[in-house]
Amino acid sequence: MDTPKHLFGNLAQGKDSSPLRGDSSQLQQNQSPTTEELAECLFFSPSDGRIWLNDQRMLLMHGSSFGSLRREFIDSLGLERARGLFTRTGYQSGARDAQLIRTRWPQADRTAVFFAGTRLHTLEGMTKVEPLHFKFDADTGLYEGEFLWHHSCEADEHIAAYGVGQDSACWTEIGYATGFVSGMFGRLVIFREVECRAMGHKVCRVLGKTAEQWGDVSADLALLYTNAPPAPAAAQATAPLKTNPGEAGELIPIGASAAFSAARHALLRVAPTPATVLIGGESGAGKELFARELHRQSSRREQPFVALNCAAIPENLIEAELFGVERGAFTGASHSRPGRFERAHGGTLFLDEIACLSLPGQGKLLRALQEREVERVGGGQPIRVDVRVVAATNVDLRQEVQAGRFREDLFYRLNVYPISLPPLRERRDDIPLLVDAFLSRYCREYGRTHAGLTMRALKALLLYDFPGNVRELQNLIERGLIASDEGRPIDILHLFHNEPLPPQLYSLSQSGTLSSDAQNSESGPDNLLERLQELHIEPDIERLERRLLDDALSKADGNLAAAARLLGLTRAQFAYRLKKHGTSEQN
Ligand SMILES: [Zn+2]
Repeated sequence: MDTPKHLFGNLAQGKDSSPLRGDSSQLQQNQSPTTEELAECLFFSPSDGRIWLNDQRMLLMHGSSFGSLRREFIDSLGLERARGLFTRTGYQSGARDAQLIRTRWPQADRTAVFFAGTRLHTLEGMTKVEPLHFKFDADTGLYEGEFLWHHSCEADEHIAAYGVGQDSACWTEIGYATGFVSGMFGRLVIFREVECRAMGHKVCRVLGKTAEQWGDVSADLALLYTNAPPAPAAAQATAPLKTNPGEAGELIPIGASAAFSAARHALLRVAPTPATVLIGGESGAGKELFARELHRQSSRREQPFVALNCAAIPENLIEAELFGVERGAFTGASHSRPGRFERAHGGTLFLDEIACLSLPGQGKLLRALQEREVERVGGGQPIRVDVRVVAATNVDLRQEVQAGRFREDLFYRLNVYPISLPPLRERRDDIPLLVDAFLSRYCREYGRTHAGLTMRALKALLLYDFPGNVRELQNLIERGLIASDEGRPIDILHLFHNEPLPPQLYSLSQSGTLSSDAQNSESGPDNLLERLQELHIEPDIERLERRLLDDALSKADGNLAAAARLLGLTRAQFAYRLKKHGTSEQN
């Protein structure tokens, strides 16, 4: 059975070139990433129906429904197959969390990042992990760890369904530990549960070692890799869609969300056919990128791709643009030139904002599509053209037809195979992918270091509505990179200038309750200072106090006692401060 080494390789190569070795006994208290720092990665977006762990969407599931799901799997698949299924599910979570830690804390201490897995596993609510000891050394390839798991949710559910028995039950957790440590260490580290509450022990106890150290691991591997291998890394699941743009010098549409995947599947289906395609979607949603990708996936890929935005060309010139001109056709036509149709011969002609085409222009386009020949303006001889037309629109063409602004026959000619591109706000799950792709691209173009985004900047992007869609996100990232300093992450103030800021997100406060980020950031004086700077308010204490007094007075309509209450002062204290600033009492 093959161990999928590729899963580990890229994770193990951090930016830090220090040797990958460590020992939990040398761990100092509160080394980064701390539980608080990890909790900051978890945030809730109640208005939007999403929970995020950094850039991964999470689910809050009832422990008891997890229990009944588990029970149904065991009863229908049998114990061993169900066990494998949950082990692999846990493995995926662990591998993803390892990736999170590596990208978010690339410079952190080696031992601390291994330790972070226990904190994250605990934070996610499956079990409370107590590390007894662990050590690892990449040079010798050795890993050894021992952990206690307290009040494991899975053991609880197992006992509730089946009582205490012979078998250990914390399968998802075993998978998680295996996925996380293997992802960190760069080679397969297998965990086994040697004591489990489901077997009557007081707490669960697990051991982790490399496959070589364990010896025979065929039983463990059978749980981890079935004949239908799982796709433990996010990158694998989305590989065909996730290629970085710009790698081949060209941009490609990027996404992994359901809405995006549906559009992409439609594209791949129609690309090899000669059918005319109509792409619908808001402005900035990536219609031209899609058209280019359609061309690349077709048999015409070696032939020209010619684009024309019908809205960008004055109505009286559009015919000449599309079909070409013969010399002397009109004033200024001093020489003959081919139109876009002729230039696209053998290839693809992309007509953006097709609804902007005038009615006479529509008639000529229809004729060109039907006859497969064009006539230059002022020229007699029809010219044969072999062109696949891909049209795009950001308005509803059916409505345009009903309003008499668009020819019905042309609409049906174009609408053979419609593809609808979702706006970015309807595929928010793609935002992290896109951010990373644009950031990598601009870092390369500007010769800058990819330092990522601050957590609050990422949160803001995840909630922002993007009226300008992918193009707007792209612009924000380019702007953010320019506005931020080399080697420093892009922060919220580098991204947004005049845009309406997104609504609040909710994170875990230190007490473990959800609170809005605005409240969190007001709790610390450092953050208040940053906020003042963001608001372009000079942090001059005297002037701030004066401003607070004035604001309170005007809010209280000049009533001194009411103004004092607004600032938590007595009337006398308020009056004293007013006097200090040289303002006399008004009443
Ligand atoms: Zn257990």
